[in-house]
Amino acid sequence: MSERFDVAIIGAGPAGLAAAGVLGQAGCSVTLLDEQAEPGGQIYRGIGSASGPRKSVLGADYAAGASLLPSLAHDSVTHIAGATVWEVTPERDIYYSQAGKASGLKAEHVLVATGATERPMPFPGWTLPGVMTAGAGQILLKTAGMLPPSPCVLAGSGPLLFLIAAQYLAAGFKIDAIVETTPRGNLAKALPHLPGALLNNKYLRKGLAMLASLRKAGIPHYKASTSLVAEGDGQVEALKFTSGGKPHRLACASLLIHNGVVPNVQISRSLNLDHAWDSLQHCWHPVTDASGATSLAGFRVAGDGGGIAGAEAAAHGGRLAALAILEDLGKITGGERQARSSDDSAALKWHGRARPFLDALYAPAREFLEPADSTIVCRCEEVTAGKIREFVDLGCLGPNQAKSFGRAGMGPCQGRYCGLTVSSVIAAKLGKEMDEVGYYRIRPPLKPITLRELASMDLDDDADERPAA
Ligand SMILES: Cc1cc2nc3c(=O)[nH]c(=O)nc-3n(C[C@H](O)[C@H](O)[C@H](O)COP(=O)(O)OP(=O)(O)OC[C@H]3O[C@@H](n4cnc5c(N)ncnc54)[C@H](O)[C@@H]3O)c2cc1C
Repeated sequence: MSERFDVAIIGAGPAGLAAAGVLGQAGCSVTLLDEQAEPGGQIYRGIGSASGPRKSVLGADYAAGASLLPSLAHDSVTHIAGATVWEVTPERDIYYSQAGKASGLKAEHVLVATGATERPMPFPGWTLPGVMTAGAGQILLKTAGMLPPSPCVLAGSGPLLFLIAAQYLAAGFKIDAIVETTPRGNLAKALPHLPGALLNNKYLRKGLAMLASLRKAGIPHYKASTSLVAEGDGQVEALKFTSGGKPHRLACASLLIHNGVVPNVQISRSLNLDHAWDSLQHCWHPVTDASGATSLAGFRVAGDGGGIAGAEAAAHGGRLAALAILEDLGKITGGERQARSSDDSAALKWHGRARPFLDALYAPAREFLEPADSTIVCRCEEVTAGKIREFVDLGCLGPNQAKSFGRAGMGPCQGRYCGLTVSSVIAAKLGKEMDEVGYYRIRPPLKPITLRELASMDLDDDADERPAA
């Protein structure tokens, strides 16, 4: 393994960038790997090259991301852009592909800052062309200024759904309807958390302002919608659903769906780190301490990859992890770390205040956690929810066995789009809890690579250093 660094950070979002700034300032050799062409992560995607008009369409929260870019200016920080990490070993060897060539490096400490992914939202017809996640629609807007074809309907639940509708509106594109699937009973479950959320009401105020702007624009908003079906002959043509006790059918050429975000656990799972089930956020997250330390020495997790808390919290978490690494490297004392951590720790706590309210309010609907039998859950291998239930009838006890029963989770996405659904269908069928049923065992390569890429790798003579793939 030729290149060696004090610290390797995977993910150049707010968590990774903030950590790189602290470590770079202390003179540590840092490599920051990210599969995107530019730093910024999900929220600040393309921030370095965004034009003034694009920044104003995407809003002040997006533009604020530019303040993190100077983290990369330190001489000891190397940003490797367009680098997809496909294996991380417990010995802290990292393998990645960039521009069709595979490479490896080694680090004394690894910070996993790979953020969140959108929670799957399976329902009949969700695999039709013309249906995409709202996050994907937002990526097209952020990177290429592209808008989806009209008529366009947004369906699902969570703050990001309304944010994207508002960003489209600012871009002069009025979507045709919002079909909100947040269950009716969620508000009552969220209300006990309201006093805590009012202590940091920034998120609530922003949310209410966004909803008001969508209302003012006259965008129809169907609430507590259920029984979603996307229809079309080779392309989405309409969304059918029930709302207010009545059936509806809205014609659409594009349907953008969103069901909240969950930690991206591909790397932490592949390392077999300890994970815990969060019943409020309805997802797994790696078990960490306040500085992101995991169950494996030398590995920390920061940002949304450790639990959904938002972009500002991610930056604070990244700095806290970096300060702990500085102490481990002997660059600062424990006392210095404590003194320098206090502002970030307090800010992290403050950002967390609104979380329980938002998590309860936008808890996902059962309909998408346990979809109807005919719904495809594993898109890569076209395995339906009904098939998963049949596997259980035949003796399948968990998601890993579902792989051998019918290839669920074995396609190119390696379970990223179906993992949560497959576990939740099996748990419901067996009458067990999610953490009893577990999750896919994730193995490298984490993302597809070609044999040509693998063969392009410079390996030294030590056979032990060959990747497991
Ligand atoms: C699609 C999407 C859109 C979002 N848009 C917004 C928004 O507009 N506003 C908002 O407030 N919040 C948004 N969020 C939530 C927001 O992403 C987070 O709160 C915040 O960005 C978390 O920061 P982070 O540093 O933890 O991770 P992220 O910002 O997600 O950064 C993680 C980075 O890791 C990289 N990465 C992941 N896996 C690999 C790998 N194997 N190899 C190499 N690189 C890898 C990714 O390319 C990404 O750049 C969005 C979330 C998603 C999933």
